[in-house]
Amino acid sequence: MQITTDVLVIGSGMAGLTAALAAASKGLRVVVAANGAGSLAISSGCIDLLGCVDQEVTDPWEAMTKLGPDHPYTILGSARVRQALEAFQHILDRHKTGYRIAKKDGKNVNSRLPTILGTLKPSYLIPAGHDSSELFSAKQVLVAGVEGLRDLSPKLCAHELGKLPEFQATHFATELLPSPFSQTHRGISSLDLARQVSHPKGLDWLETCLGRFARAYDVILLPPILGTRADDQLVQHLGQKLGCHVQELLTIPPGVGGLRLREVLKDEAAAHTVRFLENVHLTCSSCSNGHCHYVSTQCEEGGENQEELRIVAKSFVLASGGILGGGIWTTPYEICEVLFQLPVQFQPAVDQRTSSDALGRHPISLAGLACDSQLRPIDDRKTCCLDNVFLAGRILGGFDPAEEKSGFGVAIATGWHAGLMAAEASGMEARA
Ligand SMILES: Cc1cc2nc3c(=O)[nH]c(=O)nc-3n(C[C@H](O)[C@H](O)[C@H](O)COP(=O)(O)OP(=O)(O)OC[C@H]3O[C@@H](n4cnc5c(N)ncnc54)[C@H](O)[C@@H]3O)c2cc1C
Repeated sequence: MQITTDVLVIGSGMAGLTAALAAASKGLRVVVAANGAGSLAISSGCIDLLGCVDQEVTDPWEAMTKLGPDHPYTILGSARVRQALEAFQHILDRHKTGYRIAKKDGKNVNSRLPTILGTLKPSYLIPAGHDSSELFSAKQVLVAGVEGLRDLSPKLCAHELGKLPEFQATHFATELLPSPFSQTHRGISSLDLARQVSHPKGLDWLETCLGRFARAYDVILLPPILGTRADDQLVQHLGQKLGCHVQELLTIPPGVGGLRLREVLKDEAAAHTVRFLENVHLTCSSCSNGHCHYVSTQCEEGGENQEELRIVAKSFVLASGGILGGGIWTTPYEICEVLFQLPVQFQPAVDQRTSSDALGRHPISLAGLACDSQLRPIDDRKTCCLDNVFLAGRILGGFDPAEEKSGFGVAIATGWHAGLMAAEASGMEARA
């Protein structure tokens, strides 16, 4: 089977979805092909722009000037990063998500968000449910868990938060809300509860449970259970009803917040008639003279007894992620890019890939592809390898999203511009 399109985006994580929206905004035919949902679906949905450069930073824009020459933000330049973030924010605003950025002295700055482990994490563009603006001045805070939800121990969370210098004047109390489910054969997840709270019966359960003690507190911290939609209606409704600020904690997967955001982006893509091909594992590419013609699910005709899917496009966005996403493959001998066999830069020797400090810097995190200012792949002589393939997100090397707290920031900035570049390249090919 063969599909022909203007722009093909490979990957449907944050970078792929953003690239698809940018290319579609130029009126082109866009296809997204992916074999999974990417790490957006297991994330909080909070957009980390730049949280740490050696140490935690408040102003990510100022900190961006301190990054090295190979960092994707440096390659794009802060003006283009800003342009992408603003375009992304407009999409979120159109969908009335209530995403917001904290302000300090008139500047846009990072928020510090509490986690289930009782730590604080910097993030930039955050959903209404994670708004921390009341937390740091609160005198009385309740950490509320739910029976059967093993991810959150309210006592541990409250104990650790209480040790932080920011909360020396804050009193933390804890409660375990009764489960809204009858006895189950498994532990419940935040996603189960968020789905339950999306329905009137579930919302009623939450209001009744919290209503008993809400007025004694300035802020109630909860796991991410305030529904499955990325709007601020439930947060506002609960705040008014209970008379106190309700805030969600950052937690482990499943990523309730990421799933909410993914729905918004997919709705936006549907409005642009972006076509999604799901469960498609692309394994082969056909390129000549530095130009890609098509990608496909099979390298040989008749291989594996399955019908080949071939996608012919004028331009391509490679947003297939890093080692976790499947775009990069490692063996003890080499680190390779899977689909185009593009040269991987920033390759540490096998015995230097990781550090003995589990939470420290791991050189392998920097591994990925190098690109020029148009986000096209380049080799170690800085020569463009493919003139109609544009790179976005974690497939790029030279940055460490876990250490820097820059995951979605890089995915959005590079995704948006890769999408625009691919649209332009596609238009140029059509005119040629
Ligand atoms: C658990 C976890 C939580 C995180 N939380 C946050 C957070 O809250 N905020 C934040 O800013 N960052 C967060 N990050 C970091 C952030 O998720 C990543 O840096 C970013 O999402 C990378 O996006 P991506 O689109 O480049 O790659 P991915 O999300 O990895 O997507 C790769 C896509 O490519 C597809 N793919 C790969 N190979 C092929 C192939 N051969 N054929 C077809 N499809 C293919 C995959 O199926 C997938 O759709 C988190 C990361 C993890 C692991």
